[in-house]
Amino acid sequence: MKIAVAKGDGIGPEIMDAVLSIFNANKVPLEYEIVEMGKWVFDKGFNNGMTPEAKQTIESLGLLFKGPMETPKGKGVKSINVTARKTWNTYANKRDFQTLHGVDTVFSKAGIPINITVVRENIEDTYGGIEHMLTHDVALSRRFITRPGSMQVIRYAFEMARQKNAKRITCGHKANIMKITDGLFLECFYEVAKEYPDLKADDIIVDDLCMKLVTRPDLFDVVVLTNLQGDIVSDLCAGLVGGLGFAPSANIGDHISIFEAVHGTAPDIAGKNIANPTALLLSGLAMLRHVGLTENAAIIENALLYTLESGVHTGDFGDKSKASVNTTEFANAIINNFGKKPQNGGKEIVPNKPGTPTPLKLQSNSMMVSHEGEAETIVGVDLFIESDEQPAAIAEKCQRHAGVKFKLVNISNRGTQVWPTGSVYTNLVNQYNVRFESIEDYPLNQQDVIGLYVSMSGNFKICSFELLNMWGDKKAYSLAQGQ
Ligand code: NAD
Repeated sequence: MKIAVAKGDGIGPEIMDAVLSIFNANKVPLEYEIVEMGKWVFDKGFNNGMTPEAKQTIESLGLLFKGPMETPKGKGVKSINVTARKTWNTYANKRDFQTLHGVDTVFSKAGIPINITVVRENIEDTYGGIEHMLTHDVALSRRFITRPGSMQVIRYAFEMARQKNAKRITCGHKANIMKITDGLFLECFYEVAKEYPDLKADDIIVDDLCMKLVTRPDLFDVVVLTNLQGDIVSDLCAGLVGGLGFAPSANIGDHISIFEAVHGTAPDIAGKNIANPTALLLSGLAMLRHVGLTENAAIIENALLYTLESGVHTGDFGDKSKASVNTTEFANAIINNFGKKPQNGGKEIVPNKPGTPTPLKLQSNSMMVSHEGEAETIVGVDLFIESDEQPAAIAEKCQRHAGVKFKLVNISNRGTQVWPTGSVYTNLVNQYNVRFESIEDYPLNQQDVIGLYVSMSGNFKICSFELLNMWGDKKAYSLAQGQ
């Protein structure tokens, strides 16, 4: 089986060479096709950070093993790491965090074992990077949470939890505040949970999750979260087991998967051959298991655990009273320990299984539509306007534009109602949301809304607008604080 390898920038080539030397010494039956991706590819003028040949190779092989990559700053280009994950729809980011003997942490010293898998949605949320300045003072980020996108990642998390023989799967969220977006993610979680009665499925508000993770990490098993919350929680978990040097990551999609370490290019130590290759090695081991090379993965992982236990360490961790080794020496120590097992018996050696099939070649991608919605009616519109006037003055002008179909129901500033009632203590910025609803359930259509938009634009700069929809008898929009 052939896979694509991108060595990356900074410490990338050093740690990738170390990991591949371990794979080769273990006779891992993989061939590697080196592809051109990274900062130097941006510098050559390819503004997505990869050559067309690299893209073609990755799409035909379906597996990319990559080192960390740097995104040039201030050139208006997007992160190659995020672009790769989004372009190839690697919708689930899986990170395993486990206690490693030889890597001292407060929990290992207290005898509290950690074995947590964080599954993070990898494509949606604020990572769409759809941002606008609405006024000189007000920036907006659009946060998309979709039903099909949430179902995809949650289904993956449940399936993976079952394979891992997990007992518990927990959804981390902030649905108490973001009732519609995180509420949708949570709703999908419990919908999928019905298909897995053998797993204890529960949920927790993300701030409470963080507090509990740093006090009782042993209570958690598999945790699934939306993108940004998952990003933060997974770095927190990396800290629990010894830092970024020990955090592997797999970006899983239906056709293409990407395996990489969580850490970056570590420019401060690049080129010195002193970086810790453990995180990339653990990512590589997850990749071997993904393609069915379970026996190779177990032998290498046992050798890694034995090496860590015996006190061999790079400069970033371990017993400082013992001299550290460099990247190559660390890799060689692992190779010399093939066949050895750590004290607790190590990973079970399961014979290699046939690899996953080559990826399906797509001609076009299908539309992901989930369930049929109930009858949809437009009941109003939120117009986001720029103004530095006081709420009462704005209301007076807006009411003149309401006409016969609309009534002005409220005005809010940064989500807090300031008209018809509000507090003089609420600070104001120069953007308001004026909410119009239909008079006495008059059925509205888009032309009515645009008519109001045109009329209002005579008095205000309208920065953006959102329709107020009802799905059946359910409001598909949030209320302002205090409404
Ligand atoms: P970083 O992870 O590169 O470094 C943070 C600190 O951790 C540094 O002190 C570094 O020396 C240390 N460190 C990281 N990995 C190490 C290792 N394997 N062994 C020993 N020490 C290690 O984070 P940063 O400095 O914020 O980012 C540097 C660059 O990497 C940026 O351009 C960023 O965009 C990029 N980055 C890429 C990825 C990726 O490719 N997936 C992820 C994160 C950051």
